[in-house]
Amino acid sequence: MRSKRSQILIVVVAALAFLPVLAVDYVLDGYAKSRETNKLQSALDAITHDSQTIVQDAVLSLRRILHNSPSLCTPTFFTNVNLELQQSIYLRQVAVENAEGIQYCAAYGSGVNYRVLSGSLAIPGHTETLSVVELEGEATPLLKITQQFGGNRAVSAFVEAAPLVAREVTPIVGNMRHLVVSLTNGAPIIIRGDAIDFAALDADYIFVRSFAGDIPIKAEAGASFSALRSSYAELDFGFTAVACLMGVLVLILMLKYARRTDLPSFDIERAIVAGEMKPYYQPVMNLKTGKLIGCEVLVRWVKRNGEVVPPGAFIDYAEMSGLAVPMTLSLMEQVRFDLEELCAEVPDFKVSINLFEGHFRDGTIVDDIQSIFGGSGIRYTQLVFEITERRPLDDRDAVNHVVSAMHKLGVRIAMDDAGTGHSNLAYLHTLGIDIVKIDKIFVDMIRDPHVPVPVIDGLISMAKDMDIEIIAEGVETQEQALYLRAKNVYFAQGYLFSPPLKLSSFLALANALKPSARGSNLNGDMAA
Ligand code: C2E
Ligand code: CA
Ligand code: CA
Repeated sequence: MRSKRSQILIVVVAALAFLPVLAVDYVLDGYAKSRETNKLQSALDAITHDSQTIVQDAVLSLRRILHNSPSLCTPTFFTNVNLELQQSIYLRQVAVENAEGIQYCAAYGSGVNYRVLSGSLAIPGHTETLSVVELEGEATPLLKITQQFGGNRAVSAFVEAAPLVAREVTPIVGNMRHLVVSLTNGAPIIIRGDAIDFAALDADYIFVRSFAGDIPIKAEAGASFSALRSSYAELDFGFTAVACLMGVLVLILMLKYARRTDLPSFDIERAIVAGEMKPYYQPVMNLKTGKLIGCEVLVRWVKRNGEVVPPGAFIDYAEMSGLAVPMTLSLMEQVRFDLEELCAEVPDFKVSINLFEGHFRDGTIVDDIQSIFGGSGIRYTQLVFEITERRPLDDRDAVNHVVSAMHKLGVRIAMDDAGTGHSNLAYLHTLGIDIVKIDKIFVDMIRDPHVPVPVIDGLISMAKDMDIEIIAEGVETQEQALYLRAKNVYFAQGYLFSPPLKLSSFLALANALKPSARGSNLNGDMAA
């Protein structure tokens, strides 16, 4: 059974893996809206641009007629008018009238009957004006472009306003719920669908507007987004399928990863509560006498199936997740229970426990030591706490504070992995370190008892100068033991003597080496 923490983690990862599925709709909405808005805008721009071209052509037609006709309503005038009518597909009629609307003449030999639908607007930069009119018998209004001639007469050209709309050659027009082409003063020319109700516009409504830049005409249109969005259903399906596949892939990869690394980390919390984090004990020996003088507590995760997991597989996670502190507490409680009798019996026996950097940050370690070991068979003077040099101790004030509180109790401090990390021995001295543990990488340099290893020699002499006790770690060979002993380093641990042992094996070893009635073998070797 996995711990609550790991279950939550898996649910979170699964949710994250399928997030893209939920996002498909949102992303497609955005894509469809921008695409449909652009399409509507281009259609509307084409309409206003078309109207502008038609009006400008009509202006030119009028100017050519007047330029080539010395007077109005003469045969020459009609010849010129007919020529323009033939050449322009949108020019429908040309008429001459006075200011009161009395018609003098018009093309095709008869008068023009029309109704004026708007006031007349000046065309910027031109002498012509523009208005909307309705020819008798025609449903779609026309534009009337008028040029004054002499004092009291005017010549007008009648043109189709927006043939793109009128003939619905643009398919997009079919999608528009509203379309209004009008003069810029608001006079409508063409209205399709309902009039636009600006007050009722909502998020579902796409609204676009376009102005013909050079003439006073504009167009406005709107469409229902949800209606247009339905045409994206296939894309929706495709994208959702791809996102689902990706989600499944991420989940499979995650589960594979979880299985491969067996994510021991996820179960640590449960393992601590279930008492699966067990202290193993590595003997610390006296090289001079060959006797046992103490031990180092090293954690092992002993699973219910009997598998023993070394700390390298979970210690970093324990530290990162804040579980290192409760784990150490659980270990200390077990140590008290496991070693109380031995420690009471052999007063100089030393127990060394590894701490984490976090212990120095929260400072509660001092209270924990007191509540666990206070009044127990293990005296404070029998306890050593190790701080590793591999990780930086950032908050030196906090470290000083905790170390001095520990010293007041009578426990001692060892610098673990000395020489591999961030401090130097001088700093350790100011901290009040009592013991230095020379790391295995230096001990490994010893090949021959008679060949000096300057790095080790330097460490040893510095420690001795500062009156700091030395323990050598990772001693695996007789040569290393001999070399160290020759340098007056007497305390050592390593596979040469014993690996870390489970409690029963360690107690058996300790009992075998127990001091005889005549005197203690375990006594007096490790100075307090
Ligand atoms: P460490 O504190 O430097 O412990 C010494 C490590 O070297 C132990 O590994 C020990 O089993 C191993 N060792 C001892 N003698 C020899 C030897 O002769 N040859 C070789 N090759 N190895 C030897 P372990 O138990 O796997 O622990 C690894 C590290 O995990 C420890 O290094 C320590 O930093 C950390 N650790 C273990 N238990 C605890 C714990 O309860 N608390 C804390 N804070 N850290 C722990
Ligand atoms: Ca250690
Ligand atoms: Ca070490």
